Amino acid sequence: MSKEIIRFKSSESALHMNAPSLSEEKGVFMSTYGCQMNDNDSERMLSLLEQMNYTPVNTPELASLIIINSCSIREKPVHKVHSEVGRYRKLKLTKPNLKVGVAGCVAQQEKDRLLKDLPTLDFVLGPDNIDSLPEVILSLKNKDDKDVRLNAAKFKHQEPYHVDTLVRSPGVSTFINITKGCDNFCTFCVVPYTRGRERSRPVTHLIDDINTLVKRGVKEVTLLGQNVNSYTCETGLGFSELLKNICEKTDIERVRYTTSHPKDFTDDLIEISKEYKEKICEHIHLPVQSGSTKVLERMNRGYSREHYLKITEKIFKELPDVALTTDIIVGFPGETEEQFNETMTLLDEVPYENIFAFKYSPRPFTKAARFDDQISEPIQKERLQRLFDKHETQAWDLCKRYQNKKIKVLVEKQDKKTGSYRGRNVQNKMTHFMPFDSTEENGELVGKAVEVEVYKTFPLTLRGKRLEGLK
Ligand code: SF4
Repeated sequence: MSKEIIRFKSSESALHMNAPSLSEEKGVFMSTYGCQMNDNDSERMLSLLEQMNYTPVNTPELASLIIINSCSIREKPVHKVHSEVGRYRKLKLTKPNLKVGVAGCVAQQEKDRLLKDLPTLDFVLGPDNIDSLPEVILSLKNKDDKDVRLNAAKFKHQEPYHVDTLVRSPGVSTFINITKGCDNFCTFCVVPYTRGRERSRPVTHLIDDINTLVKRGVKEVTLLGQNVNSYTCETGLGFSELLKNICEKTDIERVRYTTSHPKDFTDDLIEISKEYKEKICEHIHLPVQSGSTKVLERMNRGYSREHYLKITEKIFKELPDVALTTDIIVGFPGETEEQFNETMTLLDEVPYENIFAFKYSPRPFTKAARFDDQISEPIQKERLQRLFDKHETQAWDLCKRYQNKKIKVLVEKQDKKTGSYRGRNVQNKMTHFMPFDSTEENGELVGKAVEVEVYKTFPLTLRGKRLEGLK
């Protein structure tokens, strides 16, 4: 497959050729779909654009530049891009200097078709070329009526991945990319085709990045990668050593990571998590995808139900307070009722505080899209509902463990209207509570890890009470 992933339209209307320069009005409207990687990419694009004097705006009407950061992991992504771009067609007629681009996975997959089908579009930008965005914008301004192409760097296995974390105004908690791409080729997933082969950032860069973020007030980082467990820096250092380095060489208060892959989840990661329990949060997102070994084989996941159960058993033995969450695909091609029931019974064996479950839907380029035993939508829907119903009972049971417990909450925000604070505990439960007294009423707790006692529990959130104020 061609790796060319930035392309501009080959022709412009006379209207656009007479457009005033972009510098006359610089508002950017970013429309983001999908996962945390995409949120992070949008943040990165906004940071780059801010350096070009763009200001983020909340509505497309105020923008001179609109970027749709697309996602193709779930549900009818191309259709969504088409309809959103369609909505901007009229706007472009009234604002001739408005530029519209599509970034993200759909841009990677559908570049030629998008530009051909959507006359409103000015450029497409694949996820591997985000750092070229300023160049793209400048070229839009200066380009003549020729086809302009920029070639993406060729993906190279284990080639170090150099990128600084760009965060406009970091909050208490921030995401930081540690790897990019994926080598696993699960048969349902487009990521290896859209984000390329896996590359890892050098550990020294990550340490520097985190230290800079700490100086800017960040207290918690979430290390991001499609499969963080296969992180390998150019000196051969793996993910658990990376965590150890971060814990020892930075003053970050909390570290989270996502997403883990069961086939690469090692015992030493459990050991490091135990050793640095004060910093490494007790929340592990470990996507199982299916409880059936047969289905896992067809998904090319590289582990069995038994292997997964062994890991989770070890995790709970060594880290008994951990909160485990997972991803599940229901109605994968060929999934029988019995195989689906193996996913249902997995919930009897593994206590999941939260599950992210989806009906399987085919993705372009992927092997599973060509399987000839696709499951009908009504069956998928019915199975998904059964799974959610079962998990709901589990989630209500599990959340009781926080009842009357004293927990440490890293405070992220205060609600200006009600005065209540919110933040997460180490298990990633969003916790709401009121200030103890007037000394805490004006945002004094934001950025602090404070103790609250839980008086009400829900599957996704907790309500707590401050028992004493700031000393
Ligand atoms: S591990 Fe599988 S599901 Fe996850 S990004 Fe890689 S190919 Fe996709």
